[in-house]
Amino acid sequence: MSEFNKYFRPGFLEVFCGPMKSGKTLELMHRVERLKYMSGISIAYFKPSTDKRSKGFHSRFQNIENNCYVVDNSSEITDLIKDEKIVVMDEAQFFDDGICSVTNKLLDEKKNVIIAGLDLDFKGDPFGPMPNILALANEITKLSGICDYKGCNNPAYFTQRLINGEPASRESPLVLVGDKDYYETRCRKHHQVLE
Ligand SMILES: [Zn+2]
Repeated sequence: MSEFNKYFRPGFLEVFCGPMKSGKTLELMHRVERLKYMSGISIAYFKPSTDKRSKGFHSRFQNIENNCYVVDNSSEITDLIKDEKIVVMDEAQFFDDGICSVTNKLLDEKKNVIIAGLDLDFKGDPFGPMPNILALANEITKLSGICDYKGCNNPAYFTQRLINGEPASRESPLVLVGDKDYYETRCRKHHQVLE
C-alpha cells in the first residue's frame, strides 16, 4: 500500500461516533486535515439543516469549514457534488433515512466518505440513521467523553439532556421552545431519563 492510499481510500466509508463532547468533530477534522494537502483531491462538506434548529447540538464543524453545504434533504447531496473525491458529513444523526442510499451511491462512485455523528440520542436509543450508517461503515471509531456528573470522571458514552437543570423525560421533544435545555456527557451509571 502506498503512502497516498493510506490516507485516501476510494469507495471506503469511515465513521466517527460517540456522545456529545467526545471530540467527534475534532477527530473528523484531524482526518480531513491530512487529506487537504493532497494535490488534485478536493473535498465536499455536508451538514443537515436540522442542526441549526437545535442549538445544543451545534458543532464547530461549520465554523472550520466555510464551504460546507447545509442541506434540507439528503437527496440534494449527489447533485451538489462535482468532481470531489472525498465527501465529509457531520451531525449525520439529523439526516433523513435517505442518507444511507446516498452514501451507498457515493461509495459505488469510489468516493472516500467520512462521517461523524451521535450514535445515541438523549434517551440512550440509536439516533436517526446512525445505526444504518454504522452498518455500512468499513471502519468505525467509537469515542467516549468524560462523565460530567460531579466527582465521577469515568468514560462516558451517553448524552444527558437536562431541561431547566433536571433530567429530560423520554417524551420531551427534540427541539424545545422556551425551556432551557442543555447537554452533558455521562457514563451509564449517571445517565438519567425520566419515564
Ligand atoms: Zn458517571
